[in-house]
Amino acid sequence: MSENVYQFIDVQRVDPRKKPISSRKKSFVEIYEPFSENQVNSQADRCLDCGNPYCEWKCPVHNYIPQWLKLIRTGRILEAAELSHRTNSLPEVCGRVCPQDRLCEGSCTLDEEFGAVTIGNIEKYITDTAFKMGWKPDMSYVTWTDKKVAIIGAGPAGLGCADILVRNGVKPVVFDRHPEIGGLLTFGIPSFKLEKEVMQKRREIFTEMGVEFKLNVEVGVDITMDDILADYDAVFLGVGTYQSMRAGLENEDAPGVHDALPFLIGNTNRVMGYDETNQAYIDMANQKVVVLGGGDTAMDCVRTSIRQGAAKVTCAYRRDEENMPGSKREVKNAKEEGVIFTYNVQPKGIVLDANGHVAGVKMVKTKLGEPDANGRSRAEEVAGSEHVIEATQVIMAFGFKPHKMDWLEKYDVEINHWGGINAPEQGEFTHQTTNPKIFAGGDIVRGSDLVVTAIFEGRNAAEGIMDYLKV
Ligand code: FAD
Ligand code: SF4
Repeated sequence: MSENVYQFIDVQRVDPRKKPISSRKKSFVEIYEPFSENQVNSQADRCLDCGNPYCEWKCPVHNYIPQWLKLIRTGRILEAAELSHRTNSLPEVCGRVCPQDRLCEGSCTLDEEFGAVTIGNIEKYITDTAFKMGWKPDMSYVTWTDKKVAIIGAGPAGLGCADILVRNGVKPVVFDRHPEIGGLLTFGIPSFKLEKEVMQKRREIFTEMGVEFKLNVEVGVDITMDDILADYDAVFLGVGTYQSMRAGLENEDAPGVHDALPFLIGNTNRVMGYDETNQAYIDMANQKVVVLGGGDTAMDCVRTSIRQGAAKVTCAYRRDEENMPGSKREVKNAKEEGVIFTYNVQPKGIVLDANGHVAGVKMVKTKLGEPDANGRSRAEEVAGSEHVIEATQVIMAFGFKPHKMDWLEKYDVEINHWGGINAPEQGEFTHQTTNPKIFAGGDIVRGSDLVVTAIFEGRNAAEGIMDYLKV
């Protein structure tokens, strides 16, 4: 550990090196080289240990960041891994995909003037290295109870819930319709941001801890809620939100117009060699692709299109760059890989060729007006600014809303005005629904959000379940 109090000035913030653009544009592996031990030590040493760690408060799971930075710079990796897992069920995932610029690093005391400590990459390094050293979570203290809980959905919310339950001796059995765990971490976020082996390793770790996975099982199709409620002491719903939002554009159902998630899932199926019958590959090779939207999903679609060999990829967004909802890091990566960004444009319709196939997107220019209910400036159309952007394929990445769940209808689980499940944090038992035996968390409760907030809600719900079960 350095005695140099000016370390944060003498050593600049460094981000891990990225692979060369030419190889990035063709491959579906993570773009960042791992940090070396020396880099981690010197970057961790930049932490001021400022007494009131804003990073920790802004991190949705409230990681003990200054403490694990201290452990890592003295080489105590396994202790850092144990500490990191006290607050986070998937630290190696969050280190890779959290929008750190808006969360922990964005609130680091050093951020504005000197460059924030590279918290996310160190978090990833700790768990990746600990796993390589053969580390496994210590379960020797666990006393098993006779309770078991069904978790529907193996996304970050379900996994966060399973992690806390199993560490407290409650048997979690996780059902998912997919062949691998992770939810959107596996079948959404592309492997150039998060390699799929990361979730495979996690499945091994969770299984050894005592979590049971029942994969390729869709609740409501392969098993009923009646059976689940009869067999388990409580149920957690972490089912995500899977209804793609549409803009109601003229010709939006034409051939060549796609929703974002089927496009990304088809690509993952192909990259991973999974069965493609549930979602076929959508090929963007040599195509002129226009992606509508400006969030993380849109960034994943543009960068996947580039890797598939598209001739031209344009991201069209209705506000300016400053107001884009996605991570700034991913926008930068997309630009480096050759994506063209067109800001302040709103789609009005899809233009078709003589064969009824996509030929372009009818757009109108926008200017920013008064803030809306969320405090973001409204995009107002500029009269007389209609124009067409040429396209042979269009991907709509406008976000997601809850899908219909017929299988849940007769169980007194209250659904709110936007189709989500009501499972408040504050209640007799945290994240309990209106059916006392059923709890819920993640995107289906808070709306499409982040991996780290889903983990947080899953972990909290587990506390609510244990209070309810009196264990
Ligand atoms: P999900 O991850 O959606 O998991 C729900 C699981 O439930 C799925 O596996 C589904 O198969 C299963 N399920 C649903 N119904 C049933 C049923 N009836 N039977 C069995 N199984 C069922 N967040 C970030 O923080 N950083 C990012 O970079 C980022 N990028 C994203 C990119 C894309 C393309 C998308 C779509 C989202 C992204 N997000 C990102 C958001 C993040 O992935 C989600 O907020 C998070 O995954 C929500 O977790 P969840 O557990 O609530 O739901
Ligand atoms: Fe930052 Fe996310 Fe890790 Fe929290 S979980 S420290 S917000 S990267």
